[in-house]
Amino acid sequence: MKIQQQVSLKNLTTMGVGGKAQHFVVAHTSKDIIDAILYARQNQLSWRVLGGGSNSIFSDNLYQGLVIHVQSKGIEFKPQTGGKVHVIAEAGEVWDDLVETCCRKKLWGIENMSAIPGLVGALPIENVGAYGQECADVFVSCQAYDVEEDKIVTFLKDDCDFGYRHSRFNSTDAGRYVVLSVCLELDENGSQCGHYPDVEAYLGGQEAQDPLEMRQAISSIRFSKLPHWDDLGSAGSFFKNIITDKQGYLASVTALEKHISAENLERYKNVCERFVLGDSYKIPTGLLLDVMGFAGYQVGGAAMYETQALIMVNKTGQAKAEDIYNLALQIQQKVKQLTGFELKIEPHMIGFKEDEK
Ligand SMILES: Cc1cc2nc3c(=O)[nH]c(=O)nc-3n(C[C@H](O)[C@H](O)[C@H](O)COP(=O)(O)OP(=O)(O)OC[C@H]3O[C@@H](n4cnc5c(N)ncnc54)[C@H](O)[C@@H]3O)c2cc1C
Repeated sequence: MKIQQQVSLKNLTTMGVGGKAQHFVVAHTSKDIIDAILYARQNQLSWRVLGGGSNSIFSDNLYQGLVIHVQSKGIEFKPQTGGKVHVIAEAGEVWDDLVETCCRKKLWGIENMSAIPGLVGALPIENVGAYGQECADVFVSCQAYDVEEDKIVTFLKDDCDFGYRHSRFNSTDAGRYVVLSVCLELDENGSQCGHYPDVEAYLGGQEAQDPLEMRQAISSIRFSKLPHWDDLGSAGSFFKNIITDKQGYLASVTALEKHISAENLERYKNVCERFVLGDSYKIPTGLLLDVMGFAGYQVGGAAMYETQALIMVNKTGQAKAEDIYNLALQIQQKVKQLTGFELKIEPHMIGFKEDEK
């Protein structure tokens, strides 16, 4: 285990911004991960686990502690009865490569989660998901290092408190566990999950014959909406969707009425009124930002993507983390001013003025 000094984090996150880490280590094994945590503790350093950096944004300032870059590799396939297969992957495996490998082996269960950047270890943290599939659907267990008790523990699915982009690892127990490996249950006898109009169009109205075909459909659709993260820096959806009550929703309609076109207001109402559960309204933040005219809105080198206002991009490739922060702040302030909604940032913001928003 080699501790390096003053390592730039810019190219280790998909947003492509950020300063340096004072201390940095590449952890090639689970043991390296644990040793690094112990090293940080012995040297009274704060520390931070970094996977693929697709949900993390570091500030331009020096990160004073130790960044532990997880690169532990290894995949095992364990056949079960009834065509089920347990896939056990180390935390440092690239998620999208694992999806491809499983699809090529004709294993169903994660093909709709194609073209999502990041590493396996982060999968249970946010209960990653897309196109009707999420980690929780296939999750059997994970091994994690408990930094409070200094021991390796195993979590079964029911222990994890999975919800929409939610788990115990990003809520009640945030920061306590470092995921070392994940076990997923896939199925040789599966079939296409979900029937989305864009997928149907890609497949010409036919069912996907195998998971690889579904993967190709999903990847192609996703990359037609947003370029590959290596070509255009981003951290995926930048703000969480808004959950409000009827009063909050109606107040937003009244407020928007005076500021946006009748056509956009109709679009806003039509979509929002489709996502009502009891008294709870789920407002798609991307739509709100779009009707408020934020698509293409730019601050320094950062901008909201022209065709999907929920995605913040490093438009010039030269954006500073400060641009990201200022753009986010401006949008949060304008949305709050107009609608009263408080937008929450999705990626982990590290080292900013209001750390860990
Ligand atoms: C273009 C794009 C599209 C995206 N699309 C989707 C999507 O469709 N669905 C979706 O759910 N997400 C999506 N995301 C978000 C992101 O890809 C996922 O959250 C991904 O799982 C993050 O993995 P990572 O390894 O890059 O995490 P990182 O950014 O490295 O880390 C994220 C957080 O998890 C912690 N962490 C990382 N590894 C571990 C570990 N082993 N143990 C404990 N904590 C750990 C980090 O400390 C950090 O707090 C997208 C992102 C981008 C850029």
